[in-house]
Amino acid sequence: MDTRTPTTVTATAIETVSRSRTVDRVVRGVATSDGAGVKLTRVLTQNLQRRLDPFLMLDAFGTDNRDDYIGGFPDHPHRGFETITYMLAGRMRHRDSAGHEGLLENGGAQWMVAGSGVVHSELPEQEDGRMEGFQLWLNLPAADKMTTPWYRDVPARDIPIVALPDGGTARVIAGATHGIAGAVTRPVTEPLYLDVHLPAGARFAQTLPAGHNAFVYVYRGEIAIGEGEGRAVVEAQRMGVLDNTGLGDGVVITASADARFLLIAGAPLNEPIAQYGPFVMNTQDQIYQTLADYRDGRFAKIPAENHG
Ligand code: MN
Repeated sequence: MDTRTPTTVTATAIETVSRSRTVDRVVRGVATSDGAGVKLTRVLTQNLQRRLDPFLMLDAFGTDNRDDYIGGFPDHPHRGFETITYMLAGRMRHRDSAGHEGLLENGGAQWMVAGSGVVHSELPEQEDGRMEGFQLWLNLPAADKMTTPWYRDVPARDIPIVALPDGGTARVIAGATHGIAGAVTRPVTEPLYLDVHLPAGARFAQTLPAGHNAFVYVYRGEIAIGEGEGRAVVEAQRMGVLDNTGLGDGVVITASADARFLLIAGAPLNEPIAQYGPFVMNTQDQIYQTLADYRDGRFAKIPAENHG
């Protein structure tokens, strides 16, 4: 195991926001379970897919109780989008039908483009202790839905940690902040995925392209989003959906208490969304085709050597 620790880098640019976006609505996630009984909170639910295009789902999980996660996510398929799993604590083994395998652990991420289809498993590689993290689903443009699947393991040491000019840090999983490019860059949807840690009182600014949809999920402490009259408090375990009126050129966030939050933004695809469980296409006919392909074994099987 590589034990190199992530490197903290100094910001090389200032994010200048002259008018902050405001919070359109505060969303409380829905407690649910998925896979083989894994307890989680579905923060971004299906009814927000159009509003938060290109993002399809955000699940948050965090527990010290092994019974909440030990079943993991045995073999299941995906087609038509990308999954980004970001692990704060715990160890999860990933295997997929494209022949990839990886171990996801403390502070690391895995970026998977399901494309034309994968069957994979995501199973805890620990018997007890804390498991905490997030899984985000990012849509693929219609033209790329049947692209060849790929997967990239992003260990914590490859995720830059930016020391912010006004205090705190930002882990740059995708996109860029304060002049520092993140671990992953994606075309078309141009996702920004930051994990920001702020001490109480610190102020954080991030420019955002006017047309991009954006949201903040607070997982520790409490923050205020916006400035002046548009300021809104968002507590832990809440998502603040940022306005998309085009009036703001970014977002300004102040920590009311020591806080940690995800800031996620991306360019909308403005294409039809047809979802059936783990398949996200553009039309019902494509969903029927997907179900037939899966039923008839036209998704690749997990190679034998990748079965533990
Ligand atoms: Mn999966």
